[in-house]
Amino acid sequence: MTDLASRLLAWYDISRRELPWRAPPGVRPDPYRVWLSEIMLQQTGVVTVAPYFQAFLARWPDVGALAAADLDQVLHAWAGLGYYARARNLHACARRVSETYGGRFPDDEAGLRALPGIGVYTAAAIAAIAFGRPASVVDGNVERVIARLRAVREPLPAAKARLRVLAAELTPEHRVGDFAQAMMDLGATICRPRQPLCLHCPWQADCAAHREGIAAELPARSPKTARPVRRGVAFWLERVDGAVLFRRRPERGLLGGMMELPSTPWRSAAWTPDAAQEQAPCPADWRPVAGLVAHTFTHFHLELSLLAARLPAGAAPEGTWSRAEDFHCLALPSVMRKLCRHMEGERAAAGAI
Ligand code: SF4
Repeated sequence: MTDLASRLLAWYDISRRELPWRAPPGVRPDPYRVWLSEIMLQQTGVVTVAPYFQAFLARWPDVGALAAADLDQVLHAWAGLGYYARARNLHACARRVSETYGGRFPDDEAGLRALPGIGVYTAAAIAAIAFGRPASVVDGNVERVIARLRAVREPLPAAKARLRVLAAELTPEHRVGDFAQAMMDLGATICRPRQPLCLHCPWQADCAAHREGIAAELPARSPKTARPVRRGVAFWLERVDGAVLFRRRPERGLLGGMMELPSTPWRSAAWTPDAAQEQAPCPADWRPVAGLVAHTFTHFHLELSLLAARLPAGAAPEGTWSRAEDFHCLALPSVMRKLCRHMEGERAAAGAI
């Protein structure tokens, strides 16, 4: 083991974060917990994930229980975490592990990568943390730490391959899981994106960026291209008993399988009221609702306006009807919850539609 690895592990032994999915020192990690947390932590921070992790674990304490759940229950429990393909893959993966592997996760990277929703990073993290396999676990936090430790000035993403090699050189053969988690903790608590706490860092004496006074400038990044804006019009169709029409999105693609208010396609050009109404779930006396709802996805910003109407007599559009007090039972993604809150706010301000 290198001196750097030894020092990091010694630091980890006294400074490790207590996280709900983390096994106490000396206790063998539960692969189900490791897998569940790693899927949730893809694109989502520790603070947001913690209550979701606890709720999932309380409801589905092992992979068999999760496999036996309905996809809709899982999507609903996931609502608010975003990137909903993760929830569908989580469920598909639980079923695969239960049905094909007798409820035991494969214990190496190749086997893990064959499962739904498990890519290179997640397979390495589970293999290292749950099974102690020698895997190099490199995410954005680790890239930052390594870029600083070795003063790599080449910008991301071009520098990724080099950073992986440098990270692999540091990874020890023993305590692989602890080393991976120590790197995560160092990146999250000490070698932070802004204002790294170098005075508290176990690697300060060896850190090239600290020595050169450029730690906060690394890693360098290629300029980002601006996110495009897409626009859509959502339809708030209300029955006489107050129930509102929702529909399910296609299983594949953005927000796949989640519930939504019917809407036009989302496109860059603005919608005229006439063009939007051609996409409405049924002809009706559609009235515009004041204001816009904005939401940012990974690859675009979305601006949604609303048209509202009462269900005309004789119309029977396809979908699911739900009253406001039951919205919480629907697997609604964040953008749809925003729309519902916006509509309720406008109604409160303006009276009934
Ligand atoms: Fe990061 Fe500072 Fe430690 Fe270098 S010394 S690894 S910049 S926290």
